[in-house]
Amino acid sequence: MSDTISRTINCRTEEDTLTLAQALASSVPAGRLIALEGDLGAGKSTLARAFIRARLGDEEAEVPSPTFTLVQTYDCDDGVQVWHADLYRLTDPEEAYELGLDEARDDGICLIEWPDRMPQDWWDGALKVHLTIGDRGERKVVLSGDASWRSLVEELSA
Ligand code: ADP
Repeated sequence: MSDTISRTINCRTEEDTLTLAQALASSVPAGRLIALEGDLGAGKSTLARAFIRARLGDEEAEVPSPTFTLVQTYDCDDGVQVWHADLYRLTDPEEAYELGLDEARDDGICLIEWPDRMPQDWWDGALKVHLTIGDRGERKVVLSGDASWRSLVEELSA
């Protein structure tokens, strides 16, 4: 499905990225998927960590990188489970299904780094968060998705 909404947010400092992640964390409902895209060092993990800490209400919470475990899960006080996945090392989508990512997509909130390791139709309805590094080291964050994301994206970019 093609994107119907796309907005670019300029995160001049890391603090700006953390603020965006916190705003996202308080507005994304359960049962939704967020695809984090961008080159190495763009800020995907930084954004995911801030999102998870905000959902847990604990700024110091340990948020280890799921590079080798592929997924880490977090139980939030409101009963929602947040899944943080880094699929960079995924060789077969079957592995992701075995880890339970499919059920997580229905009930929890999934933050997926390297979503393109899964078939496109699996993450079709995701909010795409694409980070790039600008000339001055700032991060350009493009939020895009289908119509179901319109109001949230407009709110975050206002
Ligand atoms: P990735 O997961 O995409 O490989 P990381 O989040 O691990 O990237 O690393 C991003 C690095 O860039 C961190 O060291 C972070 O401190 C730094 N950084 C500098 N400016 C920003 C910014 N505006 N947003 C996010 N990270 C930033």
